Amino acid sequence: MADETYDVVVLGSGTGGYATALRAAELGKRVAIVEREERLGGTCLLRGCIPSKALLESAAVMDRINRSQEWGINASGQVDWPKVVEAERHIVEKKVSGLTGLIKARKVDVIRGTGKLAAGPAVQVDGRTIRATDVVLATGSYPRMLPGLEVGDRIITSDQALVLDSLPSSVVIIGAGAIGLEFATVFNSLGVKVRVLEALPRIAPLEDEDLSKEAARAFKKKGIDSFAGVQVTEVKDAGDRVEVAYRAEGKEPQTVEADVCLVAVGRGPNSEGIGLENAGVELDRKYVKVDGTLQTTASHVWAVGDVAATPLQLAHSSFLEGMSVAERIAGQEVPEIDYAGIPRVTFSSPEISSVGLTEAQARERGHDVVTTKFNFQVLAKANIVGEGGIVKVVAEKEGPVLGVHMVGPHVTELVAEATLIYNWEAWPPDVARLIHPHPTLSEGIGEAFLSLAGKPLHTM
Ligand code: NAD
Repeated sequence: MADETYDVVVLGSGTGGYATALRAAELGKRVAIVEREERLGGTCLLRGCIPSKALLESAAVMDRINRSQEWGINASGQVDWPKVVEAERHIVEKKVSGLTGLIKARKVDVIRGTGKLAAGPAVQVDGRTIRATDVVLATGSYPRMLPGLEVGDRIITSDQALVLDSLPSSVVIIGAGAIGLEFATVFNSLGVKVRVLEALPRIAPLEDEDLSKEAARAFKKKGIDSFAGVQVTEVKDAGDRVEVAYRAEGKEPQTVEADVCLVAVGRGPNSEGIGLENAGVELDRKYVKVDGTLQTTASHVWAVGDVAATPLQLAHSSFLEGMSVAERIAGQEVPEIDYAGIPRVTFSSPEISSVGLTEAQARERGHDVVTTKFNFQVLAKANIVGEGGIVKVVAEKEGPVLGVHMVGPHVTELVAEATLIYNWEAWPPDVARLIHPHPTLSEGIGEAFLSLAGKPLHTM
């Protein structure tokens, strides 16, 4: 068949795949994306970041309505769940259509079907062989289930939680990572009774310990029961309810009943059945093994996004990975990614965000560490929006900023400034000289740095 040779073929149209394809096309490459699903966009767009944020927005509206009297407004509201899901779907459709248009505008070909890597490199799609100078694996990930459990009406993952037919009255969530905490927020704000069970000793276990403590306190205040250091021993679909048995260290075993159990214990890579063995691509604990440039063990085969064995599984880290790979394929010199410099965000309420090293990581690496913690309650703007939280800065004594960690209102936006501060290796006194607009939540960062530079303004 004519024209079946490309410069770059990308397997998968999620954030990693489309970022690679768009950048490669921008750099003048002839590019194709192979996608097995009807719609382009992958997990983030179809059943991840975007629909979950749409749900969180509905949840935030409900929160505001429930608290409206704090601002002198008498309002009351009811959740219309089918309409909530419809609003979520509308956003997704709009973004899918935008992405599809952009891919077309950049003249990237979309090849429909399930692709398999072949030697060459090449990709086989339903009997067709598509040759390429470079192939980029961007097949993404799937929600992991607990061993012995299967998805059903009452035992679900985030995939099903986004499109439930009706709103449950109670939910047990297993796992207190980003997905667990975001859905805990959605359900709690929409009036669902929520219990979160986390195996590790604290919720948001990858974050700085002070963030976990602050988040746990805030969730408790909102009526979310979270239990950390818990071993789930059984999850049973009992027909009209689900029963979850668990044991907390040093406590009697417990069984809790709920309408639904949401399993949010991480995501696994889509690395099986994609022909890796045909081309000599090796795995690292089921993820595709890559070097610092994201090249796999096979020449001219690269991997980006959730399927690659890199430290982060985030949509925006895959943007950077995809663009970097496209630029390398085009012959550009691209620095290796410092994953600590990529911001991490959880859109729970309160939000959680961070960049750089936690205090514990900085100490483990032998840094002479100084820290400061600023409480949002000091800020007029935080009082006006009615939210609290903290900004914690970790820095080298007489040296650069090592990490910024936040829990509180809009901190998933505020982390953009922290990302610049960390990646430009700024020193606290330099940042302290940059005045922040008043009254804003961004003053939380400004005040933390004033304090770390030894000249606190609104605190002691
Ligand atoms: P995760 O790895 O972040 O969290 C899973 C949690 O489940 C962990 O805290 C783990 O200790 C716990 N866990 C595992 N087994 C357990 C068990 N048997 N009992 C109780 N707890 C158990 O994974 P996730 O929250 O499912 O998210 C998947 C991926 O998607 C992550 O990489 C995450 O960062 C990413 N994601 C990011 C965002 C965001 O950036 N806002 C949102 C959603 C997901």
